[in-house]
Amino acid sequence: MPLTTLDLVSRARWTDPSFDRRDFLRVCSLAAAAVGLPATAGEAFAASAAQGRRPSVIWLSFQECTGCTETLLRTTKPALDELILDLISLDYHEALMVPSGKLAEEVRYKAMEANKGKFILVVEGAIPAKDGGIYCKIGGKTAVDILTEAAEMAGAIIAIGSCASWGGVPSAEPNPTGATGAPMILKGKTVVTIPGCPANPYNFLGTALQYATFGTLPALDELGRPMWAYGRTIHEHCPRRAHFDAGRFAQQFGDEGHRQGYCLYKLGCKGPATHASCATQHFGDIDGAWPIGIGHPCFGCTEEALAFRVPLHQTIEIERPAPPDTYPPIHAEHGGVSPVATGVAGLVGGALLTAGYMASKSLGRKDDGEAAPPGPPAGTRKED
Ligand code: SF4
Repeated sequence: MPLTTLDLVSRARWTDPSFDRRDFLRVCSLAAAAVGLPATAGEAFAASAAQGRRPSVIWLSFQECTGCTETLLRTTKPALDELILDLISLDYHEALMVPSGKLAEEVRYKAMEANKGKFILVVEGAIPAKDGGIYCKIGGKTAVDILTEAAEMAGAIIAIGSCASWGGVPSAEPNPTGATGAPMILKGKTVVTIPGCPANPYNFLGTALQYATFGTLPALDELGRPMWAYGRTIHEHCPRRAHFDAGRFAQQFGDEGHRQGYCLYKLGCKGPATHASCATQHFGDIDGAWPIGIGHPCFGCTEEALAFRVPLHQTIEIERPAPPDTYPPIHAEHGGVSPVATGVAGLVGGALLTAGYMASKSLGRKDDGEAAPPGPPAGTRKED
């Protein structure tokens, strides 16, 4: 198979004496921690990669803007070069490989043959299905054919971004090319979807590294999304949630409420209906770098029913009202005090006060046996 630039750089890195085992373990531990896998997973990544078992990844690009690749390029835990050189073997990626044309096609076919049934197929971009799929062709083949052929040979299939997951922006009305997602083309196959525009790179890394190391996929919801990343809505972890609960809303961009960081619901925030982890895992490894973090309402980019369908600043119905609109059915004991207990406490308190009073009298008694003048119990006098 012709060597790609990535192959050569990877080999140089593995033989570079300055890149030692400790560096590598650090990369693996960072990767495991960043995607929420247990600490032992980092060691498993390292052991697996050290034995030369870096999984082959074939990355197909169709109707897309390369935004998902771009956001992956900006990860630092691990950095993309560490990921593709140390943890996986990125055998085909049109934006990141040097070969082009016939040579690139040859590399892809040979990598798929050599890793049949084991490689991870990543799909970025929507697939145009209308008119026989003529709106996207590579090397004379339609995207539908390229995807179907690769999926037959893959060990796992991951659709990265909303375009590959369900059609994304190319599928917006009137959808002239019949753009759709990989799961709709590959009916009957398990396709992990990592929607987002762009997808959060750590949602992808977590899935890819789990498969690469353990040969398993995470628990998925009915849309193929990993539950650990898409099991909750943005609204559930939003840092502006306290303002929502308190009824403090920005009414217009730039008004006082907006400047104060109030809730963006009235500006069209789709966070209450959007399942994604952006509120806790920001972009570009920069704290606060996500739409709501920079003052813009969430536009629901992971949700097929919202993104590119419901206007950006149109408010939505909240389907699952949460406190303070409703409260969970809790009936906590609030520690009410019974009359008997009050009486006992009164008796005990009285006895203690009396004892204190008697003790103070006793302490105040002069040695000559003369009683000190009566006064309030110890601890209750001004001078105490
Ligand atoms: S409506 Fe949007 S800005 Fe407001 S709390 Fe929910 S997710 Fe955050």
